[in-house]
Amino acid sequence: MAFIWWKTARSPRGALYEGQKTGTLCDIGCFSFYPGKNLYAFGEGGAVSAKDPAYIDKVNVFKNQGNRVPYYHEVVGYNMRLEGLQGAVLSVSLKYLDGWNARRTEIGTRYDEQITNPLIIKQAHPANTTTVYHMYEIQVPDPEGFLKYMADNDIQCHRHYPVPCHLQKAYEDLGYGRGDCPNAEQLAAHCATLPLFPEMTDEEAGLVIEACNRYKA
Ligand SMILES: *Cc1c(COP(=O)(O)O)cnc(C)c1O
Repeated sequence: MAFIWWKTARSPRGALYEGQKTGTLCDIGCFSFYPGKNLYAFGEGGAVSAKDPAYIDKVNVFKNQGNRVPYYHEVVGYNMRLEGLQGAVLSVSLKYLDGWNARRTEIGTRYDEQITNPLIIKQAHPANTTTVYHMYEIQVPDPEGFLKYMADNDIQCHRHYPVPCHLQKAYEDLGYGRGDCPNAEQLAAHCATLPLFPEMTDEEAGLVIEACNRYKA
């Protein structure tokens, strides 16, 4: 993952919490531009935002093998520079982001209103938040069965994510076990992701809604 930093506030509306943009809610904000995100590169990419320029300076040194001056390594860093090509793709894409988010919101709002199957638990959107519908997560009793049912209806769904962080092998040494994070475990066991992307047609969104409403456990 590479990092870039936009010095100017040219970012569009985006997701809000208490009227404030995500990325400005704490000391450091992180964004992924992985393909599939609301704003995506044609490969890997990401950004870090911070009010304090000292953090940005640190990120810039770390992402560039610990160099500030070429070939003089201040710290042990990483090779995480954003490729110029990805930067070019992202600067053009940024102009379309508001429109893409608006289309995602149109489809997401339709799902919110028209998926009425009691077997499908939808996400709540608290009044102090504005969502940009990155992924449309639902909870179902049996996600694998639901994915299969949807695939039989020619609709591809996914699971994000089947194993919560505290049960990943990578974090084994922290000593957590099943039962330690019940909410994360509940979601990992029951979440499924419906298709939602700006290029979806109204008809396609309608097919997803119909299939969801016909779903039986
Ligand atoms: C965002 C995302 C990734 C990559 O995230 P990074 O922070 O860029 O590593 C991978 N898979 C899925 C499904 C994602 O949504």
